[in-house]
Parts: sequence; structure tokens; C-alpha cells
Amino acid sequence: MQITRLFEFDSGHRIPNHNSKCRNMHGHRYKLELTLAGKILETPDQSFEGMVLDFADVKRLALQFLDMLDHAFLVWDGDQQLLDFLATTDSKFVVIPYIPTVENLVKFIDEHLQPVFAQTYNDSLTIKSIKLWETPNCFAQITHE
Ligand SMILES: [Zn+2]
Repeated sequence: MQITRLFEFDSGHRIPNHNSKCRNMHGHRYKLELTLAGKILETPDQSFEGMVLDFADVKRLALQFLDMLDHAFLVWDGDQQLLDFLATTDSKFVVIPYIPTVENLVKFIDEHLQPVFAQTYNDSLTIKSIKLWETPNCFAQITHE
């Protein structure tokens, strides 16, 4: 069984090597679809009976990480010019080990959320896919078999 919860967060980024407007500092309202796979829980008389996972718990666990990205500038650790600039501000930023394209951001998010759910539920619940929308028309998706 699969369940999906939607999240939204606002972040800034730039693609420093891009040959067009994405090289400029700008922001997006990212939309994320987190899909988890697991068995329907059958323990009688429990709050979670009949659920894969309470959506409130999906939210709590995911936001432990996603809140860090919200209203932050996402900067590649190879973008020294921008790192130097951000260090002179009191603005929130998160250093990403990849150029922050939507493809790399969904990979980065997956790498951080996978252990959160795997450790909390002893691998009985896994992330099936994460879809990250950068604009209303464009998204990247990572899927686990
Ligand atoms: Zn962008």
C-alpha cells in the first residue's frame, strides 16, 4: 500500500553555470510529493489501525528536515562567490553538495529523508518516491523499487 502527502516550501537558489536566467539568484515555491510504502497496520484498538502511517506522523517526520530548507537559500558548496556573499548576511542558507537543480534537490532530500523513515520504522515503511515540483510545469522524481 502506498500513501502520499504533499508539502510546500519556499527557497532561493541559482544555477551558477547556467547559460540563461537560472544563473541569477531567484526563488521558487517548491511542492513536494512524498510517497511511502508499507503494510496497513492491523493492531486492534490502536489509533493507527487501518493506516500505513498516520499522516500526522508523516508530516512531523518530514518537516524535521524540510523546515530547514524553508525560507533558506540553497547554495552549492562549489559556488564560492555566493558562499562568500551569504556569509556577509544574516540570512538563512543551506549548503548543498550539488548544483541545486531540481534533480539534485530531490536527490538531496531523498538522502536525508530515507534514514529518518527507515530508522523510525525499522524498514517496515519505506520511501517509494519523491516528486519535487520547481514550477507548476516542471518536476523531478526519484523512485525506489
Ligand atoms: Zn530556479
